[in-house]
Amino acid sequence: MNSSDTKFHIAGAGLAGSLMAIYLGRAGYRVDVYERRGDLRDLESGPGRSINLALSVRGIHALERAGLADKVLADAVAMPGRMVHGFDGSSAFQPYSKNPDEHINSVSRLELNRTLIDEAEKTPGVRLFFDHKCQEVDLATGAMEILKTTTLETTRVEDGIVIGADGAFSVVRRRLQRTDRFNYQQSYLEHGYKELVIPPDDNGGHRIEKNALHIWPRRSYMMIALPNQDGSFTCTLFWPLEGPFCFDNLQTPDDILNFFQEHFADAVPHMPTLVEDYQGNPVSTLMTVRCNPWYHKDKCVLIGDAAHAVVPFYGQGINAGFEDCEALIDCMTKHSTDFEQAFADYNVQRKENSDTIADLAIANFVEMRDRVGSTAFLRKKRRERLLDRWFPNYVPLYSLVTFSRVPYAEAVRQSVRQDKKVSIVAGVLIALATIVLGLLILWQV
Ligand SMILES: Cc1cc2nc3c(=O)[nH]c(=O)nc-3n(C[C@H](O)[C@H](O)[C@H](O)COP(=O)(O)OP(=O)(O)OC[C@H]3O[C@@H](n4cnc5c(N)ncnc54)[C@H](O)[C@@H]3O)c2cc1C
Repeated sequence: MNSSDTKFHIAGAGLAGSLMAIYLGRAGYRVDVYERRGDLRDLESGPGRSINLALSVRGIHALERAGLADKVLADAVAMPGRMVHGFDGSSAFQPYSKNPDEHINSVSRLELNRTLIDEAEKTPGVRLFFDHKCQEVDLATGAMEILKTTTLETTRVEDGIVIGADGAFSVVRRRLQRTDRFNYQQSYLEHGYKELVIPPDDNGGHRIEKNALHIWPRRSYMMIALPNQDGSFTCTLFWPLEGPFCFDNLQTPDDILNFFQEHFADAVPHMPTLVEDYQGNPVSTLMTVRCNPWYHKDKCVLIGDAAHAVVPFYGQGINAGFEDCEALIDCMTKHSTDFEQAFADYNVQRKENSDTIADLAIANFVEMRDRVGSTAFLRKKRRERLLDRWFPNYVPLYSLVTFSRVPYAEAVRQSVRQDKKVSIVAGVLIALATIVLGLLILWQV
């Protein structure tokens, strides 16, 4: 059987779905991609309104493989560290790595998706259908029921392999949930988020440090801001959804201004549209999704957020989603036409790692909102710098996750092993110092 005999139906032309379509098309498969929304290349992108995300080594590697990394990075803003804004209006820059060449990249989500869709459209064998919503999947045959949202006409696309790339609320995954022994877990964070904006200054420049991820850590909540090429910053306020301090408590313009003046005083002068943004922009929720298995026989497989939605605090969601695409195409190459074996292998490779990044992302929320400004955190960073100097092979967990392609679960294991070694060495040094001190005291006596 040739690869061109096999047809894939991808639900979702988001980031993961479009990249997967490129990989499959280039591997010689026929691919039809069904996207619920209209073609986002027709959307206008106004300055100061772009939503961005942090792209790092894993995501860049996957884009390189599609020949798109240079194009995407040409429009990215490098963020070599975080700028931590204190209550008192002070700010301090903390580099992410000892290596000055290592940075994360703020990219426009819309432009990234457009680039991927453009490339998918150019790829032989790939067809894209916008305003086509996947409503149901037939797992026995790999058929999909599609609703054309502009005409409300329903069609059935027959016999293929279904790839669920339809995001955190995946319809494809929902079909898998109705199969025997499918495990599913979804948990919402108590915090939601609202997007705000720092527009460009009068000359189109950045009003605050361009090359940094800005954080205003406030213990139980925080605001962050990522730079855009057009001089603006996309700010995200993470706040509890309920309780004495929550989004609903700020109703009037005065409430909003007073709160921001009190808690984010140094940001307020840079946010001229704060009140209208706060009142106009929705509050969105954040959830973690874990499920298993990610496939059904040789008929259906999940990628990206459809398989594993994670909270955004490690900036790894789409980096992990792009890694899925690489792992899936590699497994298909390895197992040739045995798709069930390929999907099983892919599932084993990715599941442990996606669970790990889900846990790390939740833990990093506490670190970002609560610890980055604390003296304990700064002490930890100083210790890491010392360890770096004394143990050249020591790589902090953040670097393993963000600046390497070591699988997430192995990164954690490596980090635990390193920390154990460091504790042993520190223990030996303390013991030696104690003995020397004891001898000195004895000598004096
Ligand atoms: C606030 C926030 C900040 C984030 N920041 C980062 C970051 O800095 N770095 C990072 O790596 N990740 C980040 N993420 C995570 C990242 O956005 C997701 O991991 C990524 O978008 C997942 O890509 P995806 O293609 O799997 O899903 P999506 O991007 O959700 O795309 C799914 C696509 O499927 C379509 N679709 C949905 N249902 C159907 C259907 N039934 N039929 C057809 N089409 C359908 C949708 O319209 C969409 O186009 C962040 C997430 C949030 C919420």
